Amino acid sequence: MAKHSAGEFQERFHEKNLKLTHPRQAITQKILSTRAGEHFSADELWERLRRKGERISKATVYRTLHLLVEEKAVEEHDFGKGQKYYERMVERPHHDHLICIHCGRILEFENSNIERLQGEVARREGFIIRYHSHKLFGTCSSCRRKAPPPARLR
Ligand SMILES: [Zn+2]
Ligand SMILES: [Zn+2]
Repeated sequence: MAKHSAGEFQERFHEKNLKLTHPRQAITQKILSTRAGEHFSADELWERLRRKGERISKATVYRTLHLLVEEKAVEEHDFGKGQKYYERMVERPHHDHLICIHCGRILEFENSNIERLQGEVARREGFIIRYHSHKLFGTCSSCRRKAPPPARLR
């Protein structure tokens, strides 16, 4: 998916006539300052804002996150952990994820062959892909070292 700069993204707020209220600005700034590849829940984001002395309701955090997801500035993921996770997509290239079902570690990957093949699959069906999200669930290398491998699954 396309890369977005921070400025571009502020501009879109203006275009859509979305007021950059103080809570929205604080939430947006916090997200823009997350590390590349950091995946956080809405509650974690709320907690970080609270530690910074921001008094923002959880409802506002949720609403602003949804707004940012719609603007493609943030991606929302279900990593099978019982809550949604988010990550900054501003100034970040598209990528997919490997999720360790033992320790919860999330690894990112990008494979041009997969990207190309899924395009072929869609084309054959006359289907237009709007977005995609590959999630591979399994055992990471450090968890594999700790425990014997499970019986082979088919
Ligand atoms: Zn990611
Ligand atoms: Zn693991």
